[in-house]
Amino acid sequence: MLGGCSGINAMIYFRGDKQVFQTWYDGGNKEWSVDQVLKYFKKSQNLQNQDMLNNPTISEQYGHDGPLVINKVNNTFSDIAEKVIDSWNEMGFKRVNDLNLENFMASGTVTSTSADGVRQSTDRAYLTPAAKRPNLKILKKTIATKILIDKNLKAYGVEVEKDGKKMTLTTSREVIVSAGAIESPKLLMLSGIGPEKHLQENDITCLVDSPMVGQNLQDHCLVPILIYGNEPREMTDADIYRSQIDYLAHRKGILSHSDLATDALAVYTTYKNTTYSNMQNILSVLPKNSRTIGELFKSAFNYNESVVESIIELNKDYGTFFILFDLLKPYSSGNISLSSNDPKDKPLIFPNYFNDPRDLDDAAAGIKMATKVLETDYFKSIGAFLGRMNLPECDKFELDSADYWKCISKNMVSTIFHPVRTTQMGPSIDSSVVDSRLRVHGVKNLRVIDAGVMPTTVNGNLNAVTIMVGERGSDLIKEDNKN
Ligand SMILES: Cc1cc2nc3c(=O)[nH]c(=O)nc-3n(C[C@H](O)[C@H](O)[C@H](O)COP(=O)(O)OP(=O)(O)OC[C@H]3O[C@@H](n4cnc5c(N)ncnc54)[C@H](O)[C@@H]3O)c2cc1C
Repeated sequence: MLGGCSGINAMIYFRGDKQVFQTWYDGGNKEWSVDQVLKYFKKSQNLQNQDMLNNPTISEQYGHDGPLVINKVNNTFSDIAEKVIDSWNEMGFKRVNDLNLENFMASGTVTSTSADGVRQSTDRAYLTPAAKRPNLKILKKTIATKILIDKNLKAYGVEVEKDGKKMTLTTSREVIVSAGAIESPKLLMLSGIGPEKHLQENDITCLVDSPMVGQNLQDHCLVPILIYGNEPREMTDADIYRSQIDYLAHRKGILSHSDLATDALAVYTTYKNTTYSNMQNILSVLPKNSRTIGELFKSAFNYNESVVESIIELNKDYGTFFILFDLLKPYSSGNISLSSNDPKDKPLIFPNYFNDPRDLDDAAAGIKMATKVLETDYFKSIGAFLGRMNLPECDKFELDSADYWKCISKNMVSTIFHPVRTTQMGPSIDSSVVDSRLRVHGVKNLRVIDAGVMPTTVNGNLNAVTIMVGERGSDLIKEDNKN
């Protein structure tokens, strides 16, 4: 899809804390100082929220004439989201005006890559406006199958396949790979850049033994917390029709935002002596007797029939607060490998979410902190309670105990789709895939520019950061191609 995941994501624009960028810099990536990174966030941004613009402290931290429009969401459930933020505030996750600026033990509404109810994907922000440039040719429904590399280890083009036909596209300058953290390492490996033994196992001639390609995969895992109560009430047919008209007339209503996440979000930690939030709660609201709840948990999260049935059963009588709990600084890491040397085969993805036991402990502690929301005024006022999911493996544990949440975490862990680090940047080929100018170690004229190059994940959501990486990367290309 043009614009990649930015065309289907939940549109949360939350970059996380700048401390993490300092660690990128400290890891030997001198092009990525905190100041440089902030400069490129600003370069991408076009903040359009009037309240934020009216507040000089907030306004000066954003860019105002970049291609990416950001604003607040026209959220259908804003009254409920506000009450949940009040609850988080009551628990000690301080309500702040802008989570991008204050994100330690904090809550509030996030900014969004949507404006007046219209998604601002990278296609809309960058590609479409540039589509008519004479030096840009966009090929749809075309997959890159191999990077062409000559005997001097210089990239000179790509092999692509369109409508069953192979084509070769060549360049006298550079090949830039931006296929995302899953597909970029796959393409590198198919082209002979990767761990030598793994390439040999797949009958691929190894041109550059680059051991870290596809390694160190980091992702933000998701564990669902399901709370039921007397709000929100059922949506009637009239509500849905009104909402559709609202969208056509005012760009408001359920079609104007993600059907999964609201804009209410909290970040926090259970650790002492830190100023870094390593846990996130994203609020999703499902009205009583929701028509989409079954499909959501089956198709988006792939939960089994009996678990989904138990959720649907409770939702028939109660409004449902689906809190997406995610770990923002996981210790575990996984990897991407090839399933074959056929470019059409999917790669194998091993996220290894709770490989490191500290992550399971953190998840249980973090979720137990999150469920304290049940003790707040609003949740008490709506008779809120935790629902048990139909998972026989976890029945022996007391509801809301640490052991219960460990069991739920192990059995129901999913993703919020934030893979990074599979082509990470760093100073040497032994520990990274690209250098800090995003050039692939060991090959000339080849860069990777996407979420995969991040040396570590961030304690925010990845879209904003990936776009910043794109902006920084494009200036690095220009600097290196001045002549
Ligand atoms: C369902 C979902 C919800 C999310 N919600 C949020 C959110 O609310 N906020 C947030 O910040 N982040 C969110 N994310 C994550 C965020 O969107 C991604 O981190 C970000 O878009 C990654 O960008 P990328 O360019 O690295 O990769 P991608 O977006 O994956 O782009 C890669 C592109 O390359 C193309 N491609 C791949 N292989 C080939 C090939 N061989 N040949 C040609 N083209 C190829 C793909 O089709 C795609 O267009 C979400 C992601 C998903 C999937």
